Parts: sequence; structure tokens; C-alpha cells
Amino acid sequence: MGTGGEADRERYSAMLKVAVEEARAGLAEGGIPIGAALFDRQGKLLGRGHNRRVQEGDPSAHGETDAFRRAGRLRSYRDKIMVTTLAPCWYCSGLIRQFRIGTVVVGESVNFRGGIDWLRENGIAVIDLRSEECIQMLASYPGATPSWTFPGLQCYF
Ligand SMILES: [Zn+2]
Repeated sequence: MGTGGEADRERYSAMLKVAVEEARAGLAEGGIPIGAALFDRQGKLLGRGHNRRVQEGDPSAHGETDAFRRAGRLRSYRDKIMVTTLAPCWYCSGLIRQFRIGTVVVGESVNFRGGIDWLRENGIAVIDLRSEECIQMLASYPGATPSWTFPGLQCYF
């Protein structure tokens, strides 16, 4: 499986739609619009979720962790694909690294670059779809800041 072809991009874009649906569901609940989904290599959806920090008052309930937990316990993660509307934070990058998820597809990394470089350095394939929809969805969220500084952590996460 390559990561640069047009067919792959279409496949990943279809997967991203699920994460976007989750982000919009979170927004409808009054939460931060960040969504994620975990797929296997064949494109089967294993788990989906969204950021629930506002809804549940839980700063550890990120889109990636929500999708990951809902997928249940899997035998292997190397062949799995984590799809998320926004580049993963350090915490979620740690989760991806810990379980050796092989591929990460991000909707965008403009609002937040997160751990993309670190994941790549650790041999994880990261595909950035540069989705304008994802950029706008988060940028228009009330209280969102365009750049990440430590206090700003609370704005997105
Ligand atoms: Zn996170």
C-alpha cells in the first residue's frame, strides 16, 4: 500500500468523512469540533469518536482516545489507520506510538501541528490531507486560537 497515490488520497478522504461527522457531532453537543476514527487496512471502521472535554469535563477525552477506546482491544495496531480531523497532540501521538499504529491520516495541521514530525521520526506514516473543511471547522470554533502555546492548550483540548 502506497501513501502518495491518488487512489490512496480518495480512500483516506472517505475515511476522513467519518472523523468530520464525529467532529460535527461534538460541535452539536457544545463541544470542541475534533473527531477521529480507527480503520483497518481494508477500510473497515473499527471505532469512531470525538473530543469530549467540554461535554464530560474530561481533559483526557480526545477524539483519538475516544475512537481508540471504542475500537476495543485489538491483536495488532501496526496495520491500522488512525484518522483525525486535526494533527494529534502529544498525548495522542504518544498513544499512536505506544500501540504502534502504522498510519495516521490528519485532516489538517494548520491550526495545530502537534506531534507530526515526531511520529514520522518514529517510522509512522503521516498523511496530511490539508482539508479546508477541517481547517475552517476548528478555526471558527469560539475560543479557538490559531497557534498553540501552553496556556492555549485549554482552547482546543
Ligand atoms: Zn489529543
